[in-house]
Amino acid sequence: IFIVFEGVDGSGKTTQLNLLNKYLSEQNIPTVMTREPGGTPVGEKIRELLLDRRFAEMQERAEALLYAAARAQLVAQVIRPGLAAGKVVLCDRYLDSSLAYQGYGRGMDTAFLAGINELATGGLRPDLTVLLDIPPREGLQRSRQDRPADRLESESLAFYQRVRSGYLALARQNPAAYLVLDARQPVQQLHTAICQAVGGLLGG
Ligand code: C5P
Ligand code: MG
Repeated sequence: IFIVFEGVDGSGKTTQLNLLNKYLSEQNIPTVMTREPGGTPVGEKIRELLLDRRFAEMQERAEALLYAAARAQLVAQVIRPGLAAGKVVLCDRYLDSSLAYQGYGRGMDTAFLAGINELATGGLRPDLTVLLDIPPREGLQRSRQDRPADRLESESLAFYQRVRSGYLALARQNPAAYLVLDARQPVQQLHTAICQAVGGLLGG
């Protein structure tokens, strides 16, 4: 089973991912936890490039292709092998991040993004996407407190608002595959809701 966490920066994806991973591990359910861009040595190197503030000149097509390249490596090296071994694969961001940030956020051509990501993933889609929805202003306040500035630092609030509504639009297109939660709820309350949905998926 393949579960992805999505949401704008500071929505609490990493926190909830860690809690879910701990919860599943305590029940002796084997998991693989990963993230993108990153999650493999090749992908982490690509992540460094993507977040490096010195590369302000990076073109949006180059950027989108680098995200897709990191994703291709992650699918082949971590996600597919994990699924083949019968593990629950938990991933911090996936394809929807590209559709939301590069598509809705930057206004890039959807067909281009769909095409490169089809090549990168071979069509592999999550069984469930947990979308942690939060007004970007609040998310950014949280995320900029606890991490150094990256290349996205200069993006406007309007950019993140497009990303947020993009995520919500993606969820509306396929509601059965999404759990959309208000990320301003207390951490424990969110965790309970997520465990319930994942329990349903696991048939428990
Ligand atoms: O959530 P995480 O720390 O992995 O995100 C790293 C950075 O990459 C964030 O600034 C995020 O907004 C950005 N990002 C992006 N486009 C994506 C995925 C992440 O701009 N497709
Ligand atoms: Mg995070």
